[in-house]
Amino acid sequence: QLHADPGNSFLVYDTRIGEHQRDKLRMESRMLKALEHGDFELFYQGQRGLPDGRICGFEALLRWRDGDKMISPAEFIPLAEETGLIVRIGAWVLEQACRQAKAWADSGAGKPLVAVNIAPRQFNHPDFLATVRDTLARTGVDPRQIELEITEGSVMNDAETSIAQLHALRELGLHLAIDDFGTGYASLSYLRRFPLDRLKIDRSFIKQLTTSEQDDTIVRTVIELAHTLGLSVTAEGVETIEQETVLQGWGCDVIQGFLRFRPAPAAAATASLEKDKLEALQPA
Ligand code: C2E
Ligand code: MG
Ligand code: MG
Ligand code: MG
Repeated sequence: QLHADPGNSFLVYDTRIGEHQRDKLRMESRMLKALEHGDFELFYQGQRGLPDGRICGFEALLRWRDGDKMISPAEFIPLAEETGLIVRIGAWVLEQACRQAKAWADSGAGKPLVAVNIAPRQFNHPDFLATVRDTLARTGVDPRQIELEITEGSVMNDAETSIAQLHALRELGLHLAIDDFGTGYASLSYLRRFPLDRLKIDRSFIKQLTTSEQDDTIVRTVIELAHTLGLSVTAEGVETIEQETVLQGWGCDVIQGFLRFRPAPAAAATASLEKDKLEALQPA
């Protein structure tokens, strides 16, 4: 039965692949247009330092405004990564984030750290270091205000080259963080060898805190490990007071999550920063 009409089944298969390719091409050209028309926007999610609870930074998160619809990065970053367009999009993101960091510093509202996600394809592009250097110079931002978030997958292909690049980035004055820690290659040796400032514990481990003994142990152990290596720890995806309380008890340095802030446009982030500053000035 399967072989009754091989010619025809091949045709069906071929058409489907063709459609898939066309969808991708269409999406790619829409992304290019969005970049040219200014339809991308950065949202910012506040991060609170523990134990004082003050805003210490923001993570820049990319949004695509398509009419009244917001397209989430999960829907287009993977394709941008696959086609290489992420290199151009990422350069735009970095520049925007640097400008915003500088604007906050200049406004006197505070000098929050601004974290920028760097895709593997971007990190491994031969021009990445030069692009970062140019962007810092052009925007005039204090490099110490910028933190690059890279994933374990970015640095595992060629460890020696990655280490050299991380050192060069750090010499520019930037902070370096490993994002989604715990979801990639579980090699601990690189933690020692890579010049890092921070681990961001993936939200999948935070989700079950206080309900899964195993996840409690993992998170506590990662915090201790990070501190032993002289690194700060941020917990991602903190949604409940209970989670925040145990994290604080274990010495977690920074929390990020819907409990305190949802990602929001720059203006809303500025308002949070100003409110935080006023509250800090008030006697308790
Ligand atoms: P990420 O870097 O791990 O960013 C954190 C994601 O978790 C964000 O999703 C944020 O909105 C979400 N999140 C934060 N707190 C909570 C919480 O309490 N609960 C839940 N359920 N989610 C929370 P978002 O903005 O949709 O971004 C998804 C991913 O897309 C990011 O994960 C990052 O990998 C990627 N991405 C976002 N912006 C950029 C960018 O500019 N460049 C690159 N290369 N990737 C980006
Ligand atoms: Mg991130
Ligand atoms: Mg993350
Ligand atoms: Mg994540």
